[in-house]
Amino acid sequence: MNVSEQILVNYQNVITEMGEAVRSAGRPQDSVRLVGVSKYVDAPTTQCLVDAGCRDLGENRPQVLWQKAESLVVPQDFQWHMIGHLQTNKVRRLLKHSPLIHSVDSERLLLAIEDESKLQSRTTDVLLEVNISGDEAKTGLPPDEVRRLATLQKWDAIRIRGLMAMAGWGTEADEAGKQFAEVAKLRDDLQSDLGLELPELSMGMSGDYPEAIAAGATLVRIGSALFEGVPRLAKH
Ligand SMILES: *Cc1c(COP(=O)(O)O)cnc(C)c1O
Repeated sequence: MNVSEQILVNYQNVITEMGEAVRSAGRPQDSVRLVGVSKYVDAPTTQCLVDAGCRDLGENRPQVLWQKAESLVVPQDFQWHMIGHLQTNKVRRLLKHSPLIHSVDSERLLLAIEDESKLQSRTTDVLLEVNISGDEAKTGLPPDEVRRLATLQKWDAIRIRGLMAMAGWGTEADEAGKQFAEVAKLRDDLQSDLGLELPELSMGMSGDYPEAIAAGATLVRIGSALFEGVPRLAKH
C-alpha cells in the first residue's frame, strides 16, 4: 500500500471504531467529531488525510498550522484546530485561519485573542484547557482557575465553547476514563452554576478515545492511529 492508501485505511478504521464507541455510549452518531492530529507528518502527507475525508485537522504548533493552512487544498466545511500551547505573539497570524483554539490556559491569552479578534473583525471560538490529573508536568489550568475564567463575562469577540483535557502521562485507559468523567462533571457544573453554554468537550487521543467518547467527548484528537505504517517527521 502506498501512503495515501494506508492513510485511507487508517482513517476508515478510526471512524469505524469511533462509531462503535458512540453507539455503545448510546449517543447520536453525529455527536463526536474526529480531529486528525497531523503534527507527525509533512504537508503532502497531511493532504492525504484531508483527501481521505478528514474535515478537521489539529496542530500543536502555530507556525506549522499556518504553514500547512497556506499549502493544503481543503473543502469549504474544513476547520483548523489549535491544540498546543499558544504564545500571545503568535495569535495574530494564527487567527487568520479561523481555528478553534482548544488550548487556552491563561487570562492573558484570552485578552490577546479578544484584542486580535476585534482587530480582525472576527469572533473566535475557544476551549479552556483543564489539568484534571493534577500532574504538574501537564499543561492546562486547575479546575478552580477554569471556573474563574469561565465566569469572566467581558468578551465581545470570544466564545468559550467548552473544555479540553488530556489524561495524565502513562495513565491506563480505565483511569483516563475516570479523569474524562471528571472533566464532563466540571463542564456540567459550570453550565448549571453559571448558566453557561459549554457544548464542546475535547478529550481522547489514540490510546483512550473510546473512554473519552463514553464520558461525553464531542471532539477526539487522534494522531498516531491515523498515521500507523506511515513515515513520520524526524522530531516525532
Ligand atoms: C499529539 C497530540 C494528540 C494526538 O495524540 P495521539 O496519541 O498521537 O493520538 C492529541 N492532543 C494533543 C494536545 C497532542 O499534542
